[in-house]
Amino acid sequence: MAEHESLEYGKADFVLLDNVSMEEFMGNLKLRFEKGRIYSYIGEVVVSVNPYRAMNIYGRDTIEQYKGRELYERPPHLFAIADAAYKAMKRRNKDTCIVISGESGAGKTEASKYIMQYIAAITNPNQRAEVERVKNMLLKSNCVLEAFGNAKTNRNDNSSRFGKYMDINFDFKGDPIGGHISNYLLEKVNGTLCVSARHQLLRGAPDSLLRSLHIQKDPTAYNYIKVGVNSHTHTVADAMKVIGFTGDEVQTVYKILATILHLGNLTFGVDGDVTLIENPKLVSILRELLSTKEENVEKAMLYRTVATGRDVIEKQHTIQEASYGRDALAKAMYERLFCWIVGRINDIIEVRNYDARVHGKNTVIGVLDIYGFEIFQNNSFEQFCINYCNEKLQQLFIQLVLKQEQEEYQREGIPWKHIDYFNNQIIVDLVEQQHKGIFSVLDEACMNVGKVTDEVFLQGLNGKLAKHAHYTSRKLSPTDKSLEFDRDFRIRHYAGDVVYSVVGFIDKNKDTLFQDFKRLLYNSANPVLKAMWPEGKLSITEVTKRPLTAATLFKNSMISLVENLASKEPYYVRCIKPNDVKSPLLFEQERCRHQVEYLGLLENVRVRRAGFAYRQTYPRFLQRYKMISEFTWPNHDLPSDKDAVKRLMQGCGFDHDVAYGKTKVFIRTPRTLFSLEEQRAEM
Ligand code: ATP
Ligand code: MG
Repeated sequence: MAEHESLEYGKADFVLLDNVSMEEFMGNLKLRFEKGRIYSYIGEVVVSVNPYRAMNIYGRDTIEQYKGRELYERPPHLFAIADAAYKAMKRRNKDTCIVISGESGAGKTEASKYIMQYIAAITNPNQRAEVERVKNMLLKSNCVLEAFGNAKTNRNDNSSRFGKYMDINFDFKGDPIGGHISNYLLEKVNGTLCVSARHQLLRGAPDSLLRSLHIQKDPTAYNYIKVGVNSHTHTVADAMKVIGFTGDEVQTVYKILATILHLGNLTFGVDGDVTLIENPKLVSILRELLSTKEENVEKAMLYRTVATGRDVIEKQHTIQEASYGRDALAKAMYERLFCWIVGRINDIIEVRNYDARVHGKNTVIGVLDIYGFEIFQNNSFEQFCINYCNEKLQQLFIQLVLKQEQEEYQREGIPWKHIDYFNNQIIVDLVEQQHKGIFSVLDEACMNVGKVTDEVFLQGLNGKLAKHAHYTSRKLSPTDKSLEFDRDFRIRHYAGDVVYSVVGFIDKNKDTLFQDFKRLLYNSANPVLKAMWPEGKLSITEVTKRPLTAATLFKNSMISLVENLASKEPYYVRCIKPNDVKSPLLFEQERCRHQVEYLGLLENVRVRRAGFAYRQTYPRFLQRYKMISEFTWPNHDLPSDKDAVKRLMQGCGFDHDVAYGKTKVFIRTPRTLFSLEEQRAEM
């Protein structure tokens, strides 16, 4: 349908395939990739294949070609969908969102950046200073978040270890006036996380600063740095200052990063029955960085305050407990730092110079860049959360695209061949349902006063879910040798089967940070650090309410994310990773087929083909096109608007491409719409 592309590059829209089969789909996808056409459509969905090479298709001239054009007028491109979302927002006053999904390394974050750049480029034609400022903030805040939230993994050199949803607010002129960022589940695993930011500390900071933080330049001096590092050209500190972090705040960020590095080198030993810190010099460095007293640091590292009945006692850690506490502290500090940075960025980019009530409408485009379905050799709590997230997004997609389409045709009395699709609500329920869902069982296991182990959790699952069609374990299917007793359970996800190991679920779900650490940080003389740890205010006897578990927090954030997206007009970008070796030439058939499968692309084509590209109520349709026909201009004398539209369409010879519903006219192919637009323009 993109008229400007010749068939030599394959079909620009998968809807135009002769047969909707996996073979044809893959053939077309491969052909387009090999011809350097990395974008294609399924109707309004953009399918993107990571080119793994610089493409000369994002420049100013390309932006100009897409600006204000209709989706099908130009070859498929991210810019076209960005423009469609922008137009819907501006012309029709709709909140829109762009959902970008795909596996690690598929190109989600790159896509989100191109979309942001496009929006930045086409807005603010009058060069209003305030709008320019906002745009600059939005783009820069991205760099800061990437510096702290991305890391090199074996799948992606610049992998986002957090999911990100960003709202951009627009004023009545369609210019950006602010934004808001939500982040989801920063990876807690030590190692890959934070490495890039720590590295930032080692590379970007001047020697004098490093000296004051007691940091050596040699990364091998730090146990927590084991993995490769990213290279950023500008230091994060500069970007932070530009967007409005204070000097004290940036200082504190450095101090926290340094603290985390030093913590990694802290070791424990025993003398008789006393646990002690083997490198006391580090304690005095930590004291300095955390602006607290040396004995406080030592005490928090070695003792735990527990309330037994009315008594409060100091219980000494074993070496294992102390080491565990140290690692938990490092992780928690990094996580808290990241959330705090997001919060500060939100303070900075929040809409405040414009009052929506005075200036009229304030509309939103949301951009979601979130990890796709993950299946590894070893799948744990993180993969479980990520895959649950993808079930939720798939459910939203089903609801919005598939179900709504079908229901509308039914409502309008348009003949419709029912499309069978798998409704994954059953899996969403399996995970999130109150009392019997997996998250509930996990939370329950964590509440147990007695022995809280991962096996107890697995037993809980087996008890509650024995009959569930999408759940199994070795106990339930004893002959299945691929599952280990007391360790594995398997979920039949919409995208395929995944075996999860319960090892670590309990720990990762609970807030395992000893209250003593929270108190330590809260009692810091550094006000920025103190503000990050408000719950440290409570003494041990006051800590009655358990903090929400990671699972509950994640579930709640997913539910509100999906609610938010559901209230907007969605656009989709589906990213595909062509190979595992970052090659621009290699299209690994089997790998890609898998992704096409679990992104549900074939079903998407089927529904789209059964459907209509455009629909409009009769009165509004006439309003726009009545000048085309003598029968309808300036007014028609037919019994109804529906008859008038029929007459108009017959007159233009489009009757075959149109279905007439009860209240709306449905047009099958976009080309018909373009012709109408052209004729209208010629009048
Ligand atoms: P993760 O889930 O790990 O964050 P992702 O889907 O966000 O992965 P990206 O970081 O966007 O993946 O892309 C990975 C790499 O692929 C990029 O660093 C870049 O080298 C390359 N790449 C992605 N999209 C493009 C593109 N449009 N043009 C050129 N290279 C690209
Ligand atoms: Mg990413």
